[in-house]
Amino acid sequence: MKEAQAASLQVLSRLEKAGFQAYWVGGCVRDELLGQEPTDYDVATDASPEKVQSLFAKTVPTGIGHGTVTVLIHRQPVEVTTFRQETAYEDHRHPGKVQFVKTLEMDLARRDFTINAMARDRRGHLIDPFGGRKDLQSQVVRAVGEAEVRFQEDALRMVRALRFCAQLGFRIDEQTKKALLRQKSLLCHLAVERVTQELEKMWTTNKPSQGVRPLWEFGLFPHLPPFSYWEDPVSPPSSSLQEIDRPIGRWARWALFLHLCGVSTKKSRACLRSFRLPARDVENIASVYRLGSDWCLTREDVYNGKMLLLSHGVEKLFSALETAAAIHPWVSEEEKGLREALLRWQEEMPVRHLGELNVNGGKLIEAMGRQGGPWTGQVLDILLKKVALGELPNETEALLEEGRRLVQSSS
Ligand code: ATP
Ligand code: MG
Repeated sequence: MKEAQAASLQVLSRLEKAGFQAYWVGGCVRDELLGQEPTDYDVATDASPEKVQSLFAKTVPTGIGHGTVTVLIHRQPVEVTTFRQETAYEDHRHPGKVQFVKTLEMDLARRDFTINAMARDRRGHLIDPFGGRKDLQSQVVRAVGEAEVRFQEDALRMVRALRFCAQLGFRIDEQTKKALLRQKSLLCHLAVERVTQELEKMWTTNKPSQGVRPLWEFGLFPHLPPFSYWEDPVSPPSSSLQEIDRPIGRWARWALFLHLCGVSTKKSRACLRSFRLPARDVENIASVYRLGSDWCLTREDVYNGKMLLLSHGVEKLFSALETAAAIHPWVSEEEKGLREALLRWQEEMPVRHLGELNVNGGKLIEAMGRQGGPWTGQVLDILLKKVALGELPNETEALLEEGRRLVQSSS
Protein backbone atom coordinates (compact mmCIF):
# COMPACT_ATOMS: atom_id res chain seq x y z
CA MET A 1 0.00 0.00 0.00
CA LYS A 2 1.25 3.47 -0.86
CA GLU A 3 2.19 5.81 1.98
CA ALA A 4 -0.61 8.31 1.28
CA GLN A 5 -3.20 5.55 1.20
CA ALA A 6 -1.87 3.92 4.39
CA ALA A 7 -1.88 7.28 6.18
CA SER A 8 -5.49 7.97 5.19
CA LEU A 9 -6.49 4.47 6.33
CA GLN A 10 -5.01 5.23 9.75
CA VAL A 11 -7.10 8.39 9.88
CA LEU A 12 -10.30 6.46 9.02
CA SER A 13 -9.58 3.85 11.71
CA ARG A 14 -8.82 6.41 14.39
CA LEU A 15 -12.00 8.39 13.63
CA GLU A 16 -14.14 5.24 13.64
CA LYS A 17 -12.62 4.04 16.93
CA ALA A 18 -13.58 7.37 18.45
CA GLY A 19 -17.17 6.72 17.38
CA PHE A 20 -17.36 8.85 14.23
CA GLN A 21 -18.20 8.05 10.62
CA ALA A 22 -15.27 8.36 8.22
CA TYR A 23 -14.93 7.72 4.48
CA TRP A 24 -12.66 8.19 1.55
CA VAL A 25 -14.43 10.62 -0.80
CA GLY A 26 -14.20 12.30 -4.19
CA GLY A 27 -11.26 11.97 -6.57
CA CYS A 28 -9.58 9.02 -4.83
CA VAL A 29 -12.72 6.84 -4.99
CA ARG A 30 -13.17 7.75 -8.65
CA ASP A 31 -9.54 7.10 -9.59
CA GLU A 32 -9.39 3.74 -7.79
CA LEU A 33 -12.54 2.54 -9.58
CA LEU A 34 -10.81 3.53 -12.82
CA GLY A 35 -7.76 1.53 -11.84
CA GLN A 36 -5.65 4.68 -11.61
CA GLU A 37 -3.48 5.78 -8.74
CA PRO A 38 -5.13 8.69 -6.88
CA THR A 39 -3.13 11.88 -6.38
CA ASP A 40 -4.48 12.29 -2.84
CA TYR A 41 -6.83 10.51 -0.47
CA ASP A 42 -9.42 12.90 0.95
CA VAL A 43 -11.40 11.92 4.02
CA ALA A 44 -14.91 13.04 5.02
CA THR A 45 -16.27 12.63 8.55
CA ASP A 46 -19.11 13.69 10.82
CA ALA A 47 -16.57 14.72 13.49
CA SER A 48 -16.30 18.50 13.88
CA PRO A 49 -13.02 20.15 12.81
CA GLU A 50 -12.20 20.80 16.49
CA LYS A 51 -12.79 17.13 17.29
CA VAL A 52 -10.50 16.12 14.42
CA GLN A 53 -7.82 18.44 15.78
CA SER A 54 -8.14 16.90 19.23
CA LEU A 55 -7.92 13.31 17.96
CA PHE A 56 -4.58 13.63 16.16
CA ALA A 57 -1.18 14.72 17.43
CA LYS A 58 -0.28 16.86 14.42
CA THR A 59 -2.85 18.88 12.50
CA VAL A 60 -2.89 22.05 10.42
CA PRO A 61 -6.10 24.11 10.20
CA THR A 62 -5.76 24.51 6.40
CA GLY A 63 -9.36 25.43 5.69
CA ILE A 64 -10.99 25.28 9.05
CA GLY A 65 -13.65 27.80 8.05
CA HIS A 66 -14.81 25.30 5.45
CA GLY A 67 -14.37 22.37 7.80
CA THR A 68 -11.01 21.14 6.49
CA VAL A 69 -8.17 20.09 8.77
CA THR A 70 -4.95 18.55 7.45
CA VAL A 71 -3.82 15.66 9.61
CA LEU A 72 -0.15 14.72 9.46
CA ILE A 73 0.65 11.01 9.80
CA HIS A 74 4.45 10.60 9.80
CA ARG A 75 4.70 13.82 7.73
CA GLN A 76 2.12 12.47 5.27
CA PRO A 77 -0.73 15.01 4.93
CA VAL A 78 -4.33 13.79 4.87
CA GLU A 79 -7.16 16.29 4.31
CA VAL A 80 -10.10 15.64 6.59
CA THR A 81 -13.31 17.56 5.95
CA THR A 82 -16.41 17.58 8.10
CA PHE A 83 -19.62 16.62 6.25
CA ARG A 84 -20.99 19.90 4.98
CA GLN A 85 -23.44 21.65 2.80
CA GLU A 86 -22.98 24.94 1.03
CA THR A 87 -25.88 27.35 1.08
CA ALA A 88 -26.68 30.65 -0.55
CA TYR A 89 -23.97 31.12 -3.15
CA GLU A 90 -22.79 34.67 -3.68
CA ASP A 91 -21.82 35.99 -7.13
CA HIS A 92 -21.84 32.46 -8.63
CA ARG A 93 -18.53 31.50 -7.11
CA HIS A 94 -18.46 31.72 -3.30
CA PRO A 95 -20.60 29.64 -1.00
CA GLY A 96 -22.21 32.19 1.30
CA LYS A 97 -22.32 29.95 4.33
CA VAL A 98 -20.88 26.55 5.08
CA GLN A 99 -23.14 24.39 7.19
CA PHE A 100 -22.03 21.16 8.80
CA VAL A 101 -24.43 18.29 8.26
CA LYS A 102 -24.97 14.92 9.87
CA THR A 103 -25.05 12.55 6.92
CA LEU A 104 -22.60 11.51 4.26
CA GLU A 105 -25.36 11.60 1.62
CA MET A 106 -25.93 15.30 2.21
CA ASP A 107 -22.20 15.92 1.85
CA LEU A 108 -22.06 13.92 -1.39
CA ALA A 109 -25.01 15.90 -2.76
CA ARG A 110 -23.03 19.17 -2.70
CA ARG A 111 -20.29 17.72 -4.91
CA ASP A 112 -20.05 18.67 -8.56
CA PHE A 113 -20.25 15.51 -10.68
CA THR A 114 -21.62 12.02 -10.04
CA ILE A 115 -18.16 10.52 -10.63
CA ASN A 116 -16.82 12.79 -7.84
CA ALA A 117 -19.71 12.14 -5.47
CA MET A 118 -18.88 8.64 -4.27
CA ALA A 119 -17.44 7.47 -0.97
CA ARG A 120 -15.86 4.28 0.29
CA ASP A 121 -15.48 3.04 3.85
CA ARG A 122 -12.39 1.32 5.14
CA ARG A 123 -13.92 -2.12 4.61
CA GLY A 124 -14.28 -1.36 0.90
CA HIS A 125 -18.03 -0.69 0.83
CA LEU A 126 -18.97 1.85 -1.87
CA ILE A 127 -21.57 4.57 -1.24
CA ASP A 128 -22.83 5.85 -4.57
CA PRO A 129 -26.19 7.62 -4.29
CA PHE A 130 -26.02 9.37 -7.70
CA GLY A 131 -24.90 6.57 -10.00
CA GLY A 132 -21.27 7.62 -10.25
CA ARG A 133 -20.02 4.13 -10.96
CA LYS A 134 -22.41 3.72 -13.89
CA ASP A 135 -21.28 7.10 -15.27
CA LEU A 136 -17.66 6.02 -14.92
CA GLN A 137 -18.49 2.96 -17.00
CA SER A 138 -20.28 4.99 -19.65
CA GLN A 139 -17.53 7.64 -19.46
CA VAL A 140 -19.74 10.65 -18.87
CA VAL A 141 -19.38 13.75 -16.75
CA ARG A 142 -22.83 14.39 -15.28
CA ALA A 143 -23.76 17.05 -12.72
CA VAL A 144 -25.15 15.93 -9.38
CA GLY A 145 -28.77 17.10 -9.23
CA GLU A 146 -30.09 19.93 -11.39
CA ALA A 147 -27.15 20.91 -13.60
CA GLU A 148 -28.37 24.43 -14.23
CA VAL A 149 -28.68 25.15 -10.51
CA ARG A 150 -25.27 23.64 -9.85
CA PHE A 151 -23.66 25.87 -12.49
CA GLN A 152 -25.49 28.90 -11.11
CA GLU A 153 -24.11 28.16 -7.65
CA ASP A 154 -20.52 27.90 -8.86
CA ALA A 155 -19.69 28.72 -12.47
CA LEU A 156 -16.26 27.07 -12.15
CA ARG A 157 -18.04 23.72 -12.36
CA MET A 158 -18.53 24.37 -16.09
CA VAL A 159 -14.76 24.62 -16.56
CA ARG A 160 -14.19 21.66 -14.26
CA ALA A 161 -16.53 19.60 -16.45
CA LEU A 162 -14.25 20.29 -19.42
CA ARG A 163 -11.16 19.53 -17.34
CA PHE A 164 -12.52 16.12 -16.32
CA CYS A 165 -13.28 15.40 -19.99
CA ALA A 166 -9.60 16.04 -20.74
CA GLN A 167 -8.32 14.21 -17.66
CA LEU A 168 -10.44 11.09 -18.09
CA GLY A 169 -11.16 11.16 -21.83
CA PHE A 170 -14.92 11.38 -21.02
CA ARG A 171 -17.73 13.32 -22.69
CA ILE A 172 -20.28 15.62 -21.09
CA ASP A 173 -23.74 14.20 -20.45
CA GLU A 174 -26.36 15.77 -22.78
CA GLN A 175 -28.44 17.41 -20.05
CA THR A 176 -25.33 18.76 -18.34
CA LYS A 177 -24.14 20.12 -21.68
CA LYS A 178 -27.47 21.84 -22.34
CA ALA A 179 -27.27 23.44 -18.90
CA LEU A 180 -23.73 24.58 -19.62
CA LEU A 181 -24.81 26.20 -22.87
CA ARG A 182 -27.67 27.98 -21.11
CA GLN A 183 -25.55 29.20 -18.20
CA LYS A 184 -22.32 30.03 -20.01
CA SER A 185 -22.72 33.80 -19.53
CA LEU A 186 -22.13 33.23 -15.77
CA LEU A 187 -18.51 32.34 -16.55
CA CYS A 188 -17.80 36.08 -16.48
CA HIS A 189 -17.93 35.97 -12.65
CA LEU A 190 -14.94 33.64 -12.35
CA ALA A 191 -11.60 34.69 -10.93
CA VAL A 192 -8.90 34.26 -13.57
CA GLU A 193 -6.71 32.30 -11.17
CA ARG A 194 -9.28 29.51 -10.91
CA VAL A 195 -9.59 29.30 -14.71
CA THR A 196 -5.80 29.21 -15.09
CA GLN A 197 -5.59 26.44 -12.50
CA GLU A 198 -8.03 24.29 -14.50
CA LEU A 199 -6.10 24.96 -17.73
CA GLU A 200 -2.88 23.98 -15.98
CA LYS A 201 -4.53 20.72 -14.93
CA MET A 202 -5.58 20.14 -18.56
CA TRP A 203 -1.97 20.56 -19.70
CA THR A 204 -0.95 17.63 -17.47
CA THR A 205 -3.42 15.25 -19.14
CA ASN A 206 -3.06 13.06 -22.24
CA LYS A 207 -5.95 14.67 -24.09
CA PRO A 208 -6.11 18.43 -23.46
CA SER A 209 -7.96 18.76 -26.78
CA GLN A 210 -11.05 17.19 -25.16
CA GLY A 211 -11.04 19.99 -22.61
CA VAL A 212 -10.28 22.92 -24.89
CA ARG A 213 -12.36 21.93 -27.93
CA PRO A 214 -15.64 22.87 -26.15
CA LEU A 215 -14.23 26.35 -25.44
CA TRP A 216 -14.60 26.93 -29.19
CA GLU A 217 -17.53 24.62 -29.92
CA PHE A 218 -19.73 25.91 -27.10
CA GLY A 219 -18.72 29.54 -27.65
CA LEU A 220 -17.28 30.03 -24.17
CA PHE A 221 -14.42 32.44 -24.91
CA PRO A 222 -16.55 35.63 -25.03
CA HIS A 223 -17.69 34.90 -21.45
CA LEU A 224 -14.62 33.37 -19.86
CA PRO A 225 -11.91 35.48 -18.21
CA PRO A 226 -9.25 36.30 -19.24
CA PHE A 227 -10.19 35.61 -22.91
CA SER A 228 -13.36 37.70 -22.58
CA TYR A 229 -11.36 40.87 -22.03
CA TRP A 230 -8.57 40.36 -24.52
CA GLU A 231 -8.19 43.18 -27.02
CA ASP A 232 -8.53 40.72 -29.94
CA PRO A 233 -11.22 38.08 -29.52
CA VAL A 234 -10.07 34.46 -29.85
CA SER A 235 -10.22 33.34 -33.48
CA PRO A 236 -11.24 29.88 -34.72
CA PRO A 237 -8.47 27.33 -34.07
CA SER A 238 -5.55 28.06 -36.33
CA SER A 239 -4.68 24.38 -36.79
CA SER A 240 -5.92 20.97 -35.70
CA LEU A 241 -6.76 20.99 -31.99
CA GLN A 242 -5.39 17.48 -31.71
CA GLU A 243 -1.86 18.85 -32.04
CA ILE A 244 -2.09 19.86 -28.37
CA ASP A 245 -2.41 16.16 -27.42
CA ARG A 246 1.16 15.49 -28.58
CA PRO A 247 3.30 14.28 -25.67
CA ILE A 248 4.78 17.71 -24.99
CA GLY A 249 5.63 19.65 -21.84
CA ARG A 250 3.79 22.42 -20.05
CA TRP A 251 5.57 25.33 -21.76
CA ALA A 252 4.86 23.90 -25.21
CA ARG A 253 1.20 23.23 -24.29
CA TRP A 254 0.77 26.90 -23.29
CA ALA A 255 2.59 28.11 -26.41
CA LEU A 256 0.53 25.91 -28.68
CA PHE A 257 -2.68 26.97 -26.96
CA LEU A 258 -1.83 30.63 -27.69
CA HIS A 259 -1.16 29.66 -31.28
CA LEU A 260 -4.51 27.83 -31.52
CA CYS A 261 -6.24 30.90 -30.07
CA GLY A 262 -4.71 33.04 -32.81
CA VAL A 263 -2.47 35.07 -30.48
CA SER A 264 0.55 36.51 -32.32
CA THR A 265 4.01 36.07 -30.85
CA LYS A 266 4.12 39.86 -30.39
CA LYS A 267 1.07 39.82 -28.14
CA SER A 268 1.93 36.62 -26.29
CA ARG A 269 3.44 38.32 -23.22
CA ALA A 270 0.36 40.43 -22.58
CA CYS A 271 -1.93 37.43 -23.05
CA LEU A 272 0.16 35.24 -20.77
CA ARG A 273 0.14 37.97 -18.12
CA SER A 274 -3.64 38.05 -18.30
CA PHE A 275 -3.69 34.47 -16.96
CA ARG A 276 -1.80 35.82 -13.88
CA LEU A 277 1.03 33.40 -14.51
CA PRO A 278 4.27 34.07 -12.59
CA ALA A 279 6.61 36.50 -14.40
CA ARG A 280 9.20 33.77 -15.06
CA ASP A 281 6.59 31.57 -16.74
CA VAL A 282 5.46 34.49 -18.88
CA GLU A 283 9.05 35.04 -20.06
CA ASN A 284 9.80 31.38 -20.65
CA ILE A 285 6.56 30.54 -22.44
CA ALA A 286 6.69 33.69 -24.58
CA SER A 287 10.19 32.87 -25.77
CA VAL A 288 9.33 29.19 -26.33
CA TYR A 289 6.40 30.37 -28.49
CA ARG A 290 8.53 32.85 -30.45
CA LEU A 291 11.40 30.39 -30.97
CA GLY A 292 8.97 27.63 -31.97
CA SER A 293 6.97 29.84 -34.29
CA ASP A 294 10.03 31.27 -36.06
CA TRP A 295 12.04 28.04 -35.98
CA CYS A 296 14.53 27.96 -38.84
CA LEU A 297 17.39 25.93 -37.40
CA THR A 298 18.48 22.91 -39.41
CA ARG A 299 20.55 19.92 -38.35
CA GLU A 300 23.54 21.37 -40.18
CA ASP A 301 23.35 24.74 -38.47
CA VAL A 302 25.98 24.02 -35.79
CA TYR A 303 26.99 27.63 -35.15
CA ASN A 304 23.46 29.05 -34.76
CA GLY A 305 22.40 26.00 -32.78
CA LYS A 306 25.17 26.50 -30.26
CA MET A 307 24.45 30.24 -30.04
CA LEU A 308 20.80 29.48 -29.29
CA LEU A 309 21.79 26.91 -26.67
CA LEU A 310 23.99 29.52 -25.00
CA SER A 311 21.30 32.15 -24.85
CA HIS A 312 18.27 29.98 -24.02
CA GLY A 313 19.44 26.68 -22.54
CA VAL A 314 18.54 23.22 -23.70
CA GLU A 315 15.24 22.90 -21.80
CA LYS A 316 13.70 25.93 -23.47
CA LEU A 317 14.97 24.86 -26.90
CA PHE A 318 13.46 21.40 -26.53
CA SER A 319 10.12 23.01 -25.66
CA ALA A 320 10.48 25.34 -28.65
CA LEU A 321 11.19 22.33 -30.84
CA GLU A 322 8.02 20.60 -29.54
CA THR A 323 6.08 23.76 -30.32
CA ALA A 324 7.61 24.11 -33.79
CA ALA A 325 6.88 20.49 -34.66
CA ALA A 326 3.22 20.96 -33.68
CA ILE A 327 2.77 24.31 -35.42
CA HIS A 328 4.51 23.47 -38.67
CA PRO A 329 3.60 19.86 -38.65
CA TRP A 330 6.92 18.24 -39.48
CA VAL A 331 7.45 14.56 -40.00
CA SER A 332 8.63 12.99 -36.75
CA GLU A 333 12.01 12.11 -38.30
CA GLU A 334 12.79 15.80 -38.65
CA GLU A 335 11.98 16.56 -35.02
CA LYS A 336 13.97 13.56 -33.82
CA GLY A 337 16.99 14.60 -35.91
CA LEU A 338 16.91 18.13 -34.52
CA ARG A 339 16.54 16.86 -30.97
CA GLU A 340 19.61 14.66 -31.44
CA ALA A 341 21.54 17.54 -32.97
CA LEU A 342 20.72 19.83 -30.03
CA LEU A 343 21.89 17.18 -27.57
CA ARG A 344 25.08 16.57 -29.55
CA TRP A 345 25.90 20.30 -29.72
CA GLN A 346 25.17 20.64 -26.03
CA GLU A 347 27.59 17.77 -25.31
CA GLU A 348 30.27 19.25 -27.58
CA MET A 349 30.32 22.62 -25.82
CA PRO A 350 32.97 22.73 -23.07
CA VAL A 351 30.96 25.46 -21.27
CA ARG A 352 27.24 26.34 -21.41
CA HIS A 353 26.89 29.33 -19.15
CA LEU A 354 28.93 32.09 -17.54
CA GLY A 355 29.24 30.24 -14.24
CA GLU A 356 31.44 27.63 -15.93
CA LEU A 357 33.90 30.15 -17.35
CA ASN A 358 37.27 30.26 -15.55
CA VAL A 359 37.07 34.00 -15.23
CA ASN A 360 34.45 36.33 -13.79
CA GLY A 361 33.65 40.04 -13.78
CA GLY A 362 35.75 40.74 -10.70
CA LYS A 363 38.88 39.07 -12.08
CA LEU A 364 38.46 40.82 -15.40
CA ILE A 365 38.10 44.26 -13.77
CA GLU A 366 41.17 43.63 -11.59
CA ALA A 367 43.31 42.45 -14.51
CA MET A 368 42.29 45.37 -16.77
CA GLY A 369 42.70 47.95 -14.02
CA ARG A 370 39.47 49.58 -15.21
CA GLN A 371 36.22 50.35 -13.50
CA GLY A 372 33.46 47.83 -14.10
CA GLY A 373 30.72 48.80 -16.54
CA PRO A 374 28.70 47.51 -19.47
CA TRP A 375 31.99 46.42 -21.08
CA THR A 376 32.46 43.70 -18.45
CA GLY A 377 29.30 41.78 -19.40
CA GLN A 378 29.95 42.27 -23.09
CA VAL A 379 33.51 40.89 -22.84
CA LEU A 380 32.37 37.94 -20.71
CA ASP A 381 29.69 37.09 -23.30
CA ILE A 382 32.25 37.08 -26.12
CA LEU A 383 34.63 34.93 -24.07
CA LEU A 384 31.81 32.49 -23.31
CA LYS A 385 30.98 32.15 -27.00
CA LYS A 386 34.60 31.60 -27.95
CA VAL A 387 35.14 28.92 -25.31
CA ALA A 388 31.80 27.26 -26.11
CA LEU A 389 32.72 27.08 -29.79
CA GLY A 390 36.15 25.66 -28.96
CA GLU A 391 38.02 28.74 -30.23
CA LEU A 392 39.62 29.47 -26.87
CA PRO A 393 40.69 27.22 -23.97
CA ASN A 394 38.80 27.67 -20.69
CA GLU A 395 41.95 28.77 -18.84
CA THR A 396 42.12 31.92 -16.74
CA GLU A 397 45.35 33.28 -18.30
CA ALA A 398 44.16 32.76 -21.89
CA LEU A 399 40.78 34.27 -21.04
CA LEU A 400 42.30 37.37 -19.43
CA GLU A 401 44.64 37.87 -22.37
CA GLU A 402 41.79 37.62 -24.87
CA GLY A 403 39.74 39.95 -22.64
CA ARG A 404 42.56 42.50 -22.70
CA ARG A 405 42.77 42.26 -26.48
CA LEU A 406 39.01 42.76 -26.83
CA VAL A 407 39.03 45.82 -24.54
CA GLN A 408 41.97 47.41 -26.39
CA SER A 409 40.51 46.81 -29.82
CA SER A 410 37.22 48.42 -28.82
CA SER A 411 38.67 51.55 -27.22
P1 ATP B 1 -7.99 15.80 -8.96
O1 ATP B 1 -7.41 15.81 -7.58
O2 ATP B 1 -7.63 14.67 -9.83
O3 ATP B 1 -7.84 17.13 -9.61
P2 ATP B 1 -10.49 15.75 -7.58
O4 ATP B 1 -11.79 15.12 -7.94
O5 ATP B 1 -9.80 15.31 -6.34
O6 ATP B 1 -9.58 15.61 -8.83
P3 ATP B 1 -10.43 18.36 -6.45
O7 ATP B 1 -10.50 19.68 -7.11
O8 ATP B 1 -9.20 17.99 -5.71
O9 ATP B 1 -10.77 17.29 -7.55
O10 ATP B 1 -11.70 18.29 -5.47
C1 ATP B 1 -11.93 17.22 -4.58
C2 ATP B 1 -13.42 16.90 -4.54
O11 ATP B 1 -14.16 18.01 -4.03
C3 ATP B 1 -14.04 16.59 -5.90
O12 ATP B 1 -13.91 15.23 -6.23
C4 ATP B 1 -15.48 17.00 -5.71
O13 ATP B 1 -16.19 16.00 -5.05
C5 ATP B 1 -15.37 18.18 -4.77
N1 ATP B 1 -15.30 19.50 -5.44
C6 ATP B 1 -14.20 20.19 -5.79
N2 ATP B 1 -14.49 21.35 -6.37
C7 ATP B 1 -15.83 21.44 -6.38
C8 ATP B 1 -16.76 22.43 -6.84
N3 ATP B 1 -16.36 23.55 -7.41
N4 ATP B 1 -18.08 22.16 -6.66
C9 ATP B 1 -18.50 21.01 -6.08
N5 ATP B 1 -17.68 20.06 -5.64
C10 ATP B 1 -16.36 20.25 -5.78
MG1 MG C 1 -7.95 16.18 -5.52
